Amino acid sequence: MRVLILSSGEYGSRIVNHLATHGLSSSIVGLEEFEDNLPEFIDDLTEYMPENLPECDLIIAVGLFGDINLLISSIVKETGAKSVIMPIHHPQQIPAGLKQEIKDSLQEATIVFPKPFCSLTSQGDRYIDKFVEKFGKPELEIEADEYIKKVQVKRGAPCGSTDFVAKKLLGVPVEEAEFEGGDKFHNYPCLASMNKDSATGDTILHLAGYKTKEAIKRALGFTYKSAVVDLEVCQGGEDCEHLCREVCPNVLSGDSTIKLRDDEKVDINPASCGVCEICIPECPYGAIEIVEEKISCKKE
Ligand code: SF4
Ligand code: SF4
Repeated sequence: MRVLILSSGEYGSRIVNHLATHGLSSSIVGLEEFEDNLPEFIDDLTEYMPENLPECDLIIAVGLFGDINLLISSIVKETGAKSVIMPIHHPQQIPAGLKQEIKDSLQEATIVFPKPFCSLTSQGDRYIDKFVEKFGKPELEIEADEYIKKVQVKRGAPCGSTDFVAKKLLGVPVEEAEFEGGDKFHNYPCLASMNKDSATGDTILHLAGYKTKEAIKRALGFTYKSAVVDLEVCQGGEDCEHLCREVCPNVLSGDSTIKLRDDEKVDINPASCGVCEICIPECPYGAIEIVEEKISCKKE
């Protein structure tokens, strides 16, 4: 697979450095860096079109804000790329209208906009899925007794935060691992934005933190804290219009954290619940509470 990276700013550099030093270097056929203070609206894109672009299969565009992202259709035509990953790390980076314009301009390639980059999973696309074998939504393998003994990164966040957190988990008591992992993730620091993202109701940095904690919980097979639905109290159906699902940041970013049951009530997946508590006041019946005890995280 031949990969071309378009990068801008500190966020772009972080991603490029990690990918290049963790197994992607032999696939990278080109790197184009754009200034990080380009105007949000650009009249004439042609003056920014890079020259002598290599042929490639996959383009990863990281850290570019605003109209400069519209260059992607010309770059795809020039390079013959079949797939594009355009991660979103800031709420103002690619507004909904611009995102649609980019999609409409790109009929000949698959494009995905993971928000954040570490939420990316397989897409049924040959090149994106090849990339996702190593980078994207974190997956860990953990050996532990009462304490964490060994952590292997099966798939890591493209910025390197998963590898950083994995090292910090060694020797941590298992019941503290998800919380310690969340703290260490924030120390890395993740460069995703702390501004509230109106599309999901949470910050993109928090969404990224939920993915790191989910990897730890899934690897251990349990969590010690989750939002839980009391099925005796939950009404579901038309009585409440499933308001909890309307506000859950994970659901709004494409995850299945709150799932509809056959009886129209809902279940919360304790592995992916970020314990943001946003759903709790929204439930008109008070059916959701935070439970702090060992809860199994069954494999789906
Ligand atoms: S606490 Fe509620 S809103 Fe937050 S992630 Fe969990 S299920 Fe979703
Ligand atoms: S938990 Fe509350 S908001 Fe969610 S489906 Fe049940 S009753 Fe409705």
